[in-house]
Amino acid sequence: MQDIKELDLKGLEERLLFLGAPKYHARSIFDWIYRKGVSDFGKMSNLSASLRKELAEEFKILGIRELSRQESADKTAKFLFRLEDSNLVEAVIIPMKRRLQGSGDSRSFTGCISSQAGCKFACGFCASGMKGFRRNLTRGEILDQVFYLKNGVSGGNLTNIVFMGTGEPFDNYDNVLSAVRLINSPSGFNIGARRITISTCGIIPGIEKLAKEDLQVELSISLHAADDKLRSKLMPVNKKYPLADLIRCCREYIAKTNRQVTFEYILIKDINSDPASARRLVSLLKGLRLAKVNLIPANFLPELKIESPERLQVNFFKECLTEAGLEVTLRKERGQDIDAACGQLRLKYENC
Ligand code: SAH
Repeated sequence: MQDIKELDLKGLEERLLFLGAPKYHARSIFDWIYRKGVSDFGKMSNLSASLRKELAEEFKILGIRELSRQESADKTAKFLFRLEDSNLVEAVIIPMKRRLQGSGDSRSFTGCISSQAGCKFACGFCASGMKGFRRNLTRGEILDQVFYLKNGVSGGNLTNIVFMGTGEPFDNYDNVLSAVRLINSPSGFNIGARRITISTCGIIPGIEKLAKEDLQVELSISLHAADDKLRSKLMPVNKKYPLADLIRCCREYIAKTNRQVTFEYILIKDINSDPASARRLVSLLKGLRLAKVNLIPANFLPELKIESPERLQVNFFKECLTEAGLEVTLRKERGQDIDAACGQLRLKYENC
């Protein structure tokens, strides 16, 4: 059965015509699915009973199933999904500090979604790669996660999407970009492109391709080390795309798009968080016109012997960058009590 989320509006219009139904119903079907969160054709009350029946025979609306949901005291919620072939993926909703303007108590949430089942990149600090790679997610499976997250938010709205769950978005470029277009589309989830972040471990051809898309999405680079020796150790992908090439590519991306690039840097105790590492980071990024650093105290991962440095060291590292004139943010740790770090929930589940 075909996943209806593989179709864009025009594609669905064509299918409706083929089924002998007026094409304007495509808009209302999109409205039911992406705006109202309806996953059952039977509930699409403005469509005729016969069309509803025909659609249900022709299409499925959701391809993934929610297996578990854990909510943290801070309203972070982690979802574990089962794909139709029994692979598992996870996604998280994270409350943002900011309240929505003029909406009283309503909060804004970020959805963190996966692009692949498993991951081939085997970064030394990330649980996602520990079980190896399974497969790319389809566009429909990526959109399914957004569907569940949007409907899982209570007391607020899903306003932002980040591709920072499991997998490498640029290793599944076409499905990710196609999903992004629907997430962004006014007839789809209608989330502004500037509120959608693609995070990459540094796949240069992906960055080059994104620069040519007509899309204002945010780009994050998982950097985590400012010298090739350490970065290759932490992130084997660095052997293929070393720092000088990566930074050159980012410079070209900035020049072409005029958009800021965010460099993610996990602070790991005794590995990359000393003052010399901070200085190396400054010299690597100085001269990039629109760059920002997002520091992330590492989530504790006993399996990989990864832990965060002391608070004082985190603050000192941040200070070094700020003093050198870099724009820096420090990511707040959230969802620690529910293992919301990358890959942790799936790992636990599969180890049971
Ligand atoms: N492959 C892409 C998308 C995955 S996002 C990429 O590499 O960017 C990966 C992000 O997960 C990292 O940048 C980091 O923000 C987070 N992450 C992974 N392991 C972590 C850990 N132990 N502690 C904190 N954050 C972690």
